[in-house]
Amino acid sequence: MILIFEISTITRENYDIIVVGGGIAGIAASVAAAREGAAVLLLEKQVNLGGLATGGLISWYEPLCDSQGHQIVTGIAEELIRLSVRDCFDCLPKEWGGTEKSAPRRNRYCTRYSPTVFALALDEYVLSNGVKILFDTYGTYPVMEENICRGIITENSDGRSFYPAQVVIDTTGDAAIMHRAGVPCREGENFLSYIVHDIEYSHAIKMLNDNQIWAIRNWVNCGSDMSGNGHPEGMKKISGIHTEEITEFMIAGKLRMLDRIRNRDRYSYDIMSIPSMPQLRTIRQIIGDSNFKAINGNCVQDSIGHTGDFRMSEKFVRNVYDVPLSALYNSKFPNLLAAGRIISAPDHDDWEVARVIPTCALTGEAAGKAAVRYIKTQS
Ligand SMILES: Cc1cc2nc3c(=O)[nH]c(=O)nc-3n(C[C@H](O)[C@H](O)[C@H](O)COP(=O)(O)OP(=O)(O)OC[C@H]3O[C@@H](n4cnc5c(N)ncnc54)[C@H](O)[C@@H]3O)c2cc1C
Repeated sequence: MILIFEISTITRENYDIIVVGGGIAGIAASVAAAREGAAVLLLEKQVNLGGLATGGLISWYEPLCDSQGHQIVTGIAEELIRLSVRDCFDCLPKEWGGTEKSAPRRNRYCTRYSPTVFALALDEYVLSNGVKILFDTYGTYPVMEENICRGIITENSDGRSFYPAQVVIDTTGDAAIMHRAGVPCREGENFLSYIVHDIEYSHAIKMLNDNQIWAIRNWVNCGSDMSGNGHPEGMKKISGIHTEEITEFMIAGKLRMLDRIRNRDRYSYDIMSIPSMPQLRTIRQIIGDSNFKAINGNCVQDSIGHTGDFRMSEKFVRNVYDVPLSALYNSKFPNLLAAGRIISAPDHDDWEVARVIPTCALTGEAAGKAAVRYIKTQS
């Protein structure tokens, strides 16, 4: 017998804009909208902001410049790179703001940062811009009337609530809200990733003596690289949209890490951080009105700005790609926007460029501003 019972839903205060997901895209979207005077609620199911860029232990901010040394991404993406290193070490080259203590690894406007220190700084940044944050709160379902979204259902320690809003921005990293609203989506495929940060004491002492503070925090990957090298034989690639496969992915990563540390001298090291979310690169993206294309010279009429390809080094030709606003929405759903790694970018290489931190900040900022503009056109 199945016992079905009704859960009461409390209607809470109204917001102009609700942003679901407090990763880089959600931070940029909520801050951009609040700066334009909107009442903004940012929902985050974990208890820290930053998403993969903090809790996923990503600690490398990809470049804001093209491969020839010209800055192409500005705005909140630049504020965030500065914030990521404000209170700890950086690896910025001198021409991009580094000091004599910086340890640049590349001659581009990019840096290594401490994801834990960055996470501490993010609450203050978002709050000081007037955004209301709710942690430990799952944005579960959009409430839809036909194709118009009236707000978001949430679940947290207070139970189930309904927050009405005029615009909802999905920055969940897996397009959960867009998908549940009925927006058509595509699914990704992922190799196993399980990255932790460890400290090997003898290495740390050497790095301290060499003034290489940034190298004390060591990135250890017991999954595969971006191209699948190291993916366990026989393990299927996963999309990351089903709980069981996410569970399998996390357990496989942890077991491999345990295997790896079992033979280490237990007095010689420690693991400083393990990921608090699955390190899946591409889960699900919307099918938008247009697509982001990582093609040089693809001028689009509704450009929100430029981004570049982090994989290109200084020896490659200049790479600058326009990002269209219409890759952030499907106009059959006029008050829903997507930002971050879920924007419409169907080809593998396009998604690779769209999903990194600078592009996520750029699309987040644009979504926040577009949401405010949409509200103004309705009044
Ligand atoms: C292994 C790996 C290595 C990478 N390396 C780099 C790198 O070196 N440099 C780089 O620039 N980029 C790198 N990236 C990519 C980059 O870190 C991420 O793609 C980017 O940070 C994604 O930002 P986002 O805001 O779109 O999504 P996310 O970071 O996924 O943020 C989504 C947030 O939404 C929250 N959330 C999800 N669903 C809900 C819900 N229903 N309700 C409430 N909250 C919700 C999540 O908890 C999370 O905080 C890497 C990614 C991976 C996986």
